[in-house]
Amino acid sequence: MPHLIPHVRKPVGLIWDSENWSCAYDASFTILANLWAEDSQRWTGYFGHMGGVLGELGVLFQSVSDGMVTLETARNLVRRGMNARQPDHFPYGSNTTSIDRIAQQLFPSKHFAVGRQVCRRCHFCDDKGYRMLESYLSAGLKSTDEYPDGVHLTSWLERYLSRGKQFCPSCRLVGVRQKLDMQTQVTEVPPIMLLDITHKRLVFSEELCFNVGGRLFKLKLRGIIYGGQAHFTCRFIQKDGSMWFHDGITTGNSCIRENRLQDGEDRLQLHKCGEKSAVAVIYALVL
Ligand SMILES: [Zn+2]
Repeated sequence: MPHLIPHVRKPVGLIWDSENWSCAYDASFTILANLWAEDSQRWTGYFGHMGGVLGELGVLFQSVSDGMVTLETARNLVRRGMNARQPDHFPYGSNTTSIDRIAQQLFPSKHFAVGRQVCRRCHFCDDKGYRMLESYLSAGLKSTDEYPDGVHLTSWLERYLSRGKQFCPSCRLVGVRQKLDMQTQVTEVPPIMLLDITHKRLVFSEELCFNVGGRLFKLKLRGIIYGGQAHFTCRFIQKDGSMWFHDGITTGNSCIRENRLQDGEDRLQLHKCGEKSAVAVIYALVL
């Protein structure tokens, strides 16, 4: 029998549970399971380091890979724990949950950067250290004036990390309203990020870069979750850029191959997938 080349492994998917609707879990876990399978040992390490439900998933994906349980059983086990902790957020039956609720369980509140507020006018500097960068962020854009159409996610993130929270108290003494800037230092690279998308014209950057102590780390776009009509689907992007579509109802345990990820403005088209719209994107560290 000829050996299969490991990197052409076909992505798998989770089959939707019609009794206890599972599409929000199916979409997010399908992306994570396929990412994990690309380098199971290292991802188990990263998932475990992150802890939370992601850590549990790393262990369970190994059991799936060893043929001990199915992906659906793994999902159901994780789901049972989430339901026990927050039954109203993770209900059973003909109910769906939201991706942001799943993300909050997946990624415990771990911070990867420290921020310090400074005033560019008077050089005031506050002595607080703000915990800045988390694995789950809501990429909401406040107004189209502030963010013109077609702004890239990298620009959003840059702005998010450099925006101060208060007005300068020192400038206020002389009657000037001056917003403070945030000087953020990334202390550790987040291995995975899930960004909740609330702006339809945000361009999903192909990669996010972080400088940690002079070393550059890259996270690549690896998954998009779509929602609409009380159902979630997803796209998984392989290491080589091949894109796969999954819908737990229509494609079941497999994924359908699509065109490769396109460059530039074409990526705005990724906001749509059939009738559904993107609700979240997942970036993962380039190993
Ligand atoms: Zn000032």
